[in-house]
Amino acid sequence: MLKGQPATRESVHQLFDAVDAISVQGYDQERRVIYWNKGSELLYGYTSEEALGGKLEDLIIPESMREGVIFAHRRWVVDGIKIPASELVLRNKNGQGVNVYSSHAMFVNERNECEMYCIDIDLADVKKAQAEAALKDNWLKAVHEATPDLFLLMKENGHIVNFHAGDFEKPYVNRDGIVGSNVVHVFPEKVASRFQAHIAQSIEKDCVASFEYELELAEGTSYFEARLRHLNSHRQVVAIVRDITEQYKASELIKRQAYFDALTSLPNRFLSLDRLSQMIKDMERQKKKAAVVFLDIDDFKKVNDSLGHEVGDKLLVEAANRLSLTVRKSDQVGRLGGDEFIVLLRSLNDGYDAVHVVENLLDVFREPFRIDGRELILTTSIGVAVYPENGNTATDLLRNADTAMYQAKASGRNTFSFFTKTMNDMIVRRLEVEEQLHGALERNEFEVYYQPKFDVQSGDMIGAEALLRWHNPALGSVGPDEFIPIAEHTGLIVPLGRYVIQQALRFLVEWRSLNERSYIMAVNLSPRQFRDKELVGYVEKCLRDENVAPECLEFEITEGVLMAGQSYVDDSLNALHRLGIKLSMDDFGTGYSSLSYLRQYKFDVLKVDRSFVSGITRNREDRDLIIAAIAMAHSLGLRVVAEGVETGQQLGLLRELGCDTAQGYYFSKALPAQAMLDFQHS
Ligand code: C2E
Ligand code: MG
Ligand code: MG
Repeated sequence: MLKGQPATRESVHQLFDAVDAISVQGYDQERRVIYWNKGSELLYGYTSEEALGGKLEDLIIPESMREGVIFAHRRWVVDGIKIPASELVLRNKNGQGVNVYSSHAMFVNERNECEMYCIDIDLADVKKAQAEAALKDNWLKAVHEATPDLFLLMKENGHIVNFHAGDFEKPYVNRDGIVGSNVVHVFPEKVASRFQAHIAQSIEKDCVASFEYELELAEGTSYFEARLRHLNSHRQVVAIVRDITEQYKASELIKRQAYFDALTSLPNRFLSLDRLSQMIKDMERQKKKAAVVFLDIDDFKKVNDSLGHEVGDKLLVEAANRLSLTVRKSDQVGRLGGDEFIVLLRSLNDGYDAVHVVENLLDVFREPFRIDGRELILTTSIGVAVYPENGNTATDLLRNADTAMYQAKASGRNTFSFFTKTMNDMIVRRLEVEEQLHGALERNEFEVYYQPKFDVQSGDMIGAEALLRWHNPALGSVGPDEFIPIAEHTGLIVPLGRYVIQQALRFLVEWRSLNERSYIMAVNLSPRQFRDKELVGYVEKCLRDENVAPECLEFEITEGVLMAGQSYVDDSLNALHRLGIKLSMDDFGTGYSSLSYLRQYKFDVLKVDRSFVSGITRNREDRDLIIAAIAMAHSLGLRVVAEGVETGQQLGLLRELGCDTAQGYYFSKALPAQAMLDFQHS
């Protein structure tokens, strides 16, 4: 208080005149205005002319405060009790409330009278800001209350400074521990590291960084979505975590409904076609074939019409189950709609590989369907399209498999058809051969023929090759090039091969006794025969039984046997060699790595393929190959046989080149046993 100190009023007034952001008013002892600056005019609305001489309580004091103000002023003047500075609501010229922070000072002028100065600061902006802050506060509280999400406020290093859990019920974390911990310790490791990564992202990119994660909770797997936002000026990060389990489950359900058939739970048309496209890509990479199998249940409409849709549905479900159980795990069954199913067979070496699966699929329907105490017999028609032969897009393959299915329907149902006629014919033929091969040995339909072999230099007959012939009542004569691969496929080659060995040795005995000289009998062995563990034992026994020296037996083996690289092949070959049996590499020149095999295995004979022999008189390359083969074989101590010699010219050239043995139509075709015996005599 400045009471008792004469003021240099003029200079103070000048100072206050210069500020208009603050209201300064001066009052005499009777509270009459003696000073009114520009700030007062702005705050209260009275110009200084209007205010000067007016009384404090009449100008800016609201009615209710009047007495109090007059009283406090009197007490200050009389008793020296200062009016403290405080926040007040005064009023302006229009009678409206004015929020001010009011401070007061008392001067004593030269006449020894008290003059009071009020310094009022407008609080309107502050009040407004405060109100806004309060609103925000309440708003946030309301948002928290109304939102079931988890809110975290973290420092940039993940240290949690505040959180709100709403009615966040998943007790995956101890709430007491949250504030003060680092987010890294609040969540399991996997989730924590994602929080860290997204905190970094939200800071770096100044954006909302969000991610989804799952947690294994007592009540099952729950799914969450976390959104993070950096509060740049506060160097903090807000994270909002939402439980999206229900939403996730709903979208999974929608996905299921979109991709799977509700009745059978099989992939629907959409997903099946998608998988087909994917399969095509895979097969392209793997350089494999694939088959699209299209099934349509025969007369399904009749079942539906006569027994009702409920029975029809049950049939479809049962059919779907049976189909799924029949195929390999990697193959896929789908329902295209109605009574149409699709099966995708992947990683096939040959379109023909699909046949057995398709036959199994047809078989699946042989067993009657038992529905509601009724036994129903269903059949199905199947169409097959093979990738890449019948198309290399999903739509093409599906359409062609569909076409093939109609072919199957047209040819009497309960059967299958391949898309192209050639493939279909080939498969039909193969199946016929396979069917007829069953029991053909028991029915004595096979006969071993013999093609003689000659010493090129002397012209003497030195032995023969046993070649199998098959005559079937239904199919007529079937060549070994056709039935041997099928016999291999079915495993029938094992008994068949034994039959040839036994017949050939028996013939050899008869042949040599007739001529009183020894011959070498060559027998072909195919890859599958080596899987027969008894092979070596069986050969040994035959040699003993027929009393034939092992040196008189020669096995012709193609590279296919060696390329399998199986140890049992090596073992068998070594065992046969140890017995003293001769080994001959058949069809030399048609494979890739014959040379390395020649060194690796103990071959005695090299048999040059007839495709080269037929060219030697015309073709320089063929001749060069034979020259090289002879040179190499001789250097390794191998005998060279030329097969398929058809002309005297070829024979003459072979003699010139130093070939050891020749065989071919020039001398004789393969002959039945009796003709062979007679041949010698003639
Ligand atoms: P391969 O072992 O290369 O037999 C030679 C084939 O060439 C025989 O055919 C034979 O009849 C034929 N051939 C012989 N000389 C001539 C000729 O001058 N000109 C022509 N164009 N062809 C000639 P085939 O009997 O049809 O046998 C074909 C293949 O079937 C054989 O090829 C062999 O790989 C296999 N095979 C035949 N019999 C058996 C057998 O008992 N067991 C096994 N595993 N395979 C057999
Ligand atoms: Mg042969
Ligand atoms: Mg050959």
